[in-house]
Amino acid sequence: MIALMDTMRTAIVPVTLSGSNYRRAHDAAHHSAILWNQAVDWLHCEWNSGRSPGKYDIQSFLTSIAPQDRPLHAHTTEIIAHDLHEAVMTYRTNRKNGMQGRAPWRKKNYRPLSFSKGYGWRVTNDRLNLSFGRGRLGLSLPLPVVIDSATDAEVPTAMWGEIQLCWDTDARRWSLHIPYATERPESCGDVVTSVDEGIINPMALATWANEHTIDVTIINGREGRAIKRLRNKSVGSIQGKLSRTKNGSRRHRRLVAAKKKMKAKANYRLRDFDHQVARKAANHVIAHNSGRLVYGDVRGIERKTRQRRSAGRHQRQQLSQWSRGRQEQYLNESTGMEGEHLDESASTKTCPACGARNRPSGRDYRCTNSDCGFTCHRDAVGAINILQKAIHGTYVPIGPDVKIRVTYLRAVKRWSEGQREAHRKVQCRKARALSSAQNRASSREISACEQRQAQSSAGPSGPDQLVAVA
Ligand SMILES: [Zn+2]
Repeated sequence: MIALMDTMRTAIVPVTLSGSNYRRAHDAAHHSAILWNQAVDWLHCEWNSGRSPGKYDIQSFLTSIAPQDRPLHAHTTEIIAHDLHEAVMTYRTNRKNGMQGRAPWRKKNYRPLSFSKGYGWRVTNDRLNLSFGRGRLGLSLPLPVVIDSATDAEVPTAMWGEIQLCWDTDARRWSLHIPYATERPESCGDVVTSVDEGIINPMALATWANEHTIDVTIINGREGRAIKRLRNKSVGSIQGKLSRTKNGSRRHRRLVAAKKKMKAKANYRLRDFDHQVARKAANHVIAHNSGRLVYGDVRGIERKTRQRRSAGRHQRQQLSQWSRGRQEQYLNESTGMEGEHLDESASTKTCPACGARNRPSGRDYRCTNSDCGFTCHRDAVGAINILQKAIHGTYVPIGPDVKIRVTYLRAVKRWSEGQREAHRKVQCRKARALSSAQNRASSREISACEQRQAQSSAGPSGPDQLVAVA
């Protein structure tokens, strides 16, 4: 049975701010940092004179600042005080646990803005209004859509909590962090699901559906590999250009910013990809009412690959960029289970039907035992063997007449009908860019010609033109 458990999640929604909104948000984020800096200075003075102010002392210090010097909503100011107090408490517990650290001291330039529910943010006429206090112009944004990642349903605004508006320096974009209450499924059945993780297919899951059938779901990771490949190539290209520029020059600064932005964008996409993989895997787990999640243990495989000479240059890069841990974490979160790890050595070589060892080549597994002749997808074999080991302790062969139902899923949606054709027409991005540049050039020529013709036919008519301009 799957029970439901209350929990909080945070949706990160990128937003585009138009000219005046952008400037107001920028000024406010800047003022938020100034208030933080003042509070930090004040706190250090208090500590030096032997006092130890609490949460509400910091708050009353900040709210005692003249209103014209803190052009933010009162609640936003209060949350700055609470954040600072929390940072101090974290520092103290860390010190107590023997960790090194320093109380907040750094001068900040920019800080996220918090808007409390009902006071700081409000929804009117399908727009989200973020307030900077009475008498000041706030921000007005189109109402963002928040999708619950557990149920894929839209979260009503009544469920939203305290909203943060954050600036991501690397990606150079604004985003809203919207927390919402949600129900998380909690499995408590005794069915086992095994997970075999790989680079080509991030996850292959296997579960006994009944005595004669094993359900296997294989999730394809093509999208993830494409994102990483594009990022690696672009980083390489920018790095090449960087090596030919002078440190500190304008071109150098621009290239560094471009690199950061590109990496940040790729990170957002990869995070989304990992969520999609975990979502599909969680659907399999929940559909089978599993209560136990077992991963083949591949932890540490990416370490010391060069010294061990266990992989080539390209595979080493793939291994080091494998986001296996994050996918596991997301799957654990979305199923409400704590997955176990099980030694998976020889799980891809052992034949699940007869137990013979084979050396698979390519994506298909073929048993060379003449009496057996079992064939299956390679990742399905790994998942089935881990499943058997999780249940019986060793690789117990499955019966000869057991049916294996394999479902292939892509982590991210396929291309739509016409999309592939449209892409095929333009062979590569370069050609597409070239063709569009040519189109633009020709259309500009035409419009310039037309304008000239129109002007010559209308003749020199000064007053008319003036009227048109006015
Ligand atoms: Zn076999």
